[in-house]
Amino acid sequence: MQRDAGSFALLLINIADLPGLQARLGFQACAAFLQSLSDRFGLALDKRGTVLRFGDANFCVLVRAIRNGGHAVLAAEKLARVAEEAMSDAALTIAPELNIGISLWPLQATDGESLLRKAQLAAAAVRKRTARLQVFDDSCAEQVLTPWTLGNAFAEALRSGGLQVYYQPKLRIADRRAAGAEALMRWLRDGTPVATPDVFIPLAEEAGLIQETTWYALSNALQQAAACGDLPVAVNISPGMLHHHDFVEMVRTALSAWSVKSGGLTLEITEGALIVDFEQATARLAQLRELGVRISIDDFGTGYSSLSYFKKISADELKIDKSFVMRMLTEDADQRLVETIINLARHFRLDVVAEGVEDQPTLDMLARMGCDYAQGYLFAPALSTQQLGVWLRDNRP
Ligand code: C2E
Ligand code: CA
Ligand code: CA
Repeated sequence: MQRDAGSFALLLINIADLPGLQARLGFQACAAFLQSLSDRFGLALDKRGTVLRFGDANFCVLVRAIRNGGHAVLAAEKLARVAEEAMSDAALTIAPELNIGISLWPLQATDGESLLRKAQLAAAAVRKRTARLQVFDDSCAEQVLTPWTLGNAFAEALRSGGLQVYYQPKLRIADRRAAGAEALMRWLRDGTPVATPDVFIPLAEEAGLIQETTWYALSNALQQAAACGDLPVAVNISPGMLHHHDFVEMVRTALSAWSVKSGGLTLEITEGALIVDFEQATARLAQLRELGVRISIDDFGTGYSSLSYFKKISADELKIDKSFVMRMLTEDADQRLVETIINLARHFRLDVVAEGVEDQPTLDMLARMGCDYAQGYLFAPALSTQQLGVWLRDNRP
């Protein structure tokens, strides 16, 4: 920038699935391929450009004497063709996908930071639009600034007590009494939700905050359990957390800090987390059970894993996904699925919980099918600690 008084474009070329490419080619071959790509970009631009590797999965290409967006697009298309040639020469069976985000100097930015930021926003917009390249414009900012700022806001909320843990009661169907509660995270500002956990939990994973987030849920839940006279509690564990090297230690620390009795803590794990790395998952679950932790397979029936994992996984509970439960009165297939899961649980001597129970007829049917526990709006939504205290007074065994 300092050298060049004129105008230029920044092309941020992002390799969409670098880990995938590394896995297919091997690390060395992948590095060599990227080096050859960089050389070819340089050759194609002759003396008009500078090619830099930026981070792991990006090239930053500065192209001089670009006066407008149209010019920049031509340059970017040329590089995309060069990349295609390189891929076909390397005989890659699955070509990596490139996203090119473009920003213009000095039209769109007059300092390096914002020039980069805008190219990055444009590249992120490409990913969403399934186009191949994008010159930065205001629509990019709107599209992607939201998760960006959301990530920062989440980190801030996590550290300043802006996150709350709510508790949804779980009932024993036989006597309709409280049998425990599931901790569900809430992100509220002035009493209204900023985002739902389906949005901010993946965000926490992406931002590397899942360990802190899980500790937050775990420690709050165990504290609450103690405050409610050793109420059994369940905490959701995301796939990334189960496979984190520190996870078992984290649970051990929490259990001893709050003197939790054996069976007092259930960890809810989805099938998806199990198949990420089955060997590791089984080993982790066995270690956790040795600590006296119960394991529940959450959203059961929605994964694509085979039933054969049942032989090897040591679990204590199956949780029937709410999508089946909520449709079981109207859809024959869902009803049969629910019944099958209940029978499966019984054969394997596992407890079975139906979630998403919203009405009495559903509960009655679950009772006839021999389901042990139920959770859902029929009884209570996720409650604040205060509301939980009141609810428990009326619904304790
Ligand atoms: P999940 O573990 O399957 O939790 C059940 C979800 O169903 C909760 O949504 C709950 O509020 C909702 N629900 C309960 N009863 C009913 C009902 O009768 N009808 C309907 N329609 N919905 C019902 P929520 O709280 O929005 O949580 C969504 C997901 O986010 C959870 O699904 C869980 O996977 C994840 N999550 C929530 N808190 C945490 C957390 O602390 N850590 C992790 N890793 N994940 C969390
Ligand atoms: Ca759950
Ligand atoms: Ca669930």
